[in-house]
Formats: sequence, C-alpha cells, structure tokens
Amino acid sequence: MLSAHDVTRSFGGLTAVNHVSLEIGPREIVGLVGPNGSGKTTLLNLLSGFLAPTSGEIRFDGTAVRARRAWQPSRLGLRRTFQLPKLPARMSVLEVMLAGGRLPAGASPWRSLLTPGAVRREEAAFIGKAMGLLAEVDLAGLADHPAGGLSGGQQKLLGLAAALMDDPAVLLLDEPTAGVNPSLRRRMADHLRRIREGGTALVIVEHDMGFIGDLCDRCLALDKGAVIANCRPDELSGNQQVVEAYLGR
Ligand code: ADP
Repeated sequence: MLSAHDVTRSFGGLTAVNHVSLEIGPREIVGLVGPNGSGKTTLLNLLSGFLAPTSGEIRFDGTAVRARRAWQPSRLGLRRTFQLPKLPARMSVLEVMLAGGRLPAGASPWRSLLTPGAVRREEAAFIGKAMGLLAEVDLAGLADHPAGGLSGGQQKLLGLAAALMDDPAVLLLDEPTAGVNPSLRRRMADHLRRIREGGTALVIVEHDMGFIGDLCDRCLALDKGAVIANCRPDELSGNQQVVEAYLGR
C-alpha cells in the first residue's frame, strides 16, 4: 500500500537514508528501530511526504507521494504525528480536533446560505466524530479546555486523536510514548491496536523496545541510513547486525 523504492536522502554531504526499499501493507503495524542518527525520523518524513527524496520514489496505492508543507493535508490518506505535538495553546481541545480534519466536502459559504439545514447537519456530524474520538482517549470531558493546559501525555493522545479525524489509511507516529508515563503507555498501545482494527496501517518510530515488541507485526532496523533487518520484533535480539549497530561496533 505504502512503499519506498530505492529511496536516498542526503543533507549536504551526509546520507541520512541510503537506498531504502520497503513496503507497508494494509493494517500492518511496522516499527522503525535503530540507534540514534540511523535515519528513522528522516525515513518517517520521507514516507509521510514531509521531505522529498534526493533519489528514488515513495508510492502510496500506486500514486507517487509528493513532498508537501507541514500544514498541507495529505490528499492520499497519510497522516503523521510528532514527537512533541505543537498544539496552539489558546485553541480548545475540540478546536484542535476540528482543525485536524477537513469539513465534509462541499461545506462552503454558498452552501451554508442555500442549504443551511444540510450544512448544519454535516457540521454536527463532524463535531460528533471529534467528540467520539476524544472519548476514546478519555479527553471528551476536557473538550472546552485550552489544549496548552493538558499534560504532556494528554497532548500526545490529543495529537493521536486529531490525526484520526480524516480516517487516514496510514498513520506514521514519531515516538508516541516519549514522555508518557507507564500506565498511559499501556493505554496508548490499546488505542493503537484499536486504530489498526479500524483499518489503519501504522508505522512507528519508537525507542521503547517493550512497546515495539508488544505492538508491532514487523520491524525494520536501520543503521547508517540503510535497512539492516526486516523481521519480527522478537527476532531482533538474535540478529548479529542489529546487535552490532546498537553496540556501535
Ligand atoms: P534518527 O531519527 O534515527 O535519530 P535522523 O533521521 O534524525 O536519525 O538523522 C539521521 C542523520 O541525518 C543524522 O546524522 C542527522 O544529523 C542527519 N540529519 C537529519 N535531519 C537533518 C537536516 N535537516 N539537516 C542536516 N542533517 C540532518
């Protein structure tokens, strides 16, 4: 469904991602692992279209993924969350959710004038969807609160819920558990499993190997920008190349 074909990305003289090819299937949960500086975040940015490859191509359902600005929504059904969600402090939790999605097709000022009833119903459904997603991460009771007042863990859950507003086919997550306490971590894993059951594939950059082992069907291990292993999480520790990459050789 989402694939990279011989993708390389350089920054000046440094090759951050080096001739990577991979495929992510529907409803798969794939972990990107590897030591610091191995190219995980760069690969996530390439896969989600936030960065253009220097060479090679990313395809989603047969269509080339073109690089876009962070604020431009993906028309292809790709969504990315950030390690530190940058939530506008003054927006309410519900407003962040509404900004995460797009109003139903055709909601224009002209339609509001001509068919106000239909537009109101669409808007009500949109808000209902946002509230339903907030309920799943236990934030519905805080819908009117300023997003900036949430704890770090709650902000991550809000970032996750907002990313689901337009029903992405693939969700790319950058360290979903960083700064999140252990009980919230378990809940985060449950949320991610439910998101997969809803039909979304997940690509996760994560340092917590327990979390990865618990959640992922498959792992891609990176070292110096190249994929050195493509295996089940429980097979990583028996892979000599992976062990050496982590030990720094
Ligand atoms: P990881 O996520 O595995 O820690 P990154 O993808 O962040 O690795 O980085 C891979 C390499 O690319 C590192 O050497 C990093 O310094 C370099 N790099 C990443 N982004 C940039 C950038 N925007 N400009 C220059 N170098 C970068």
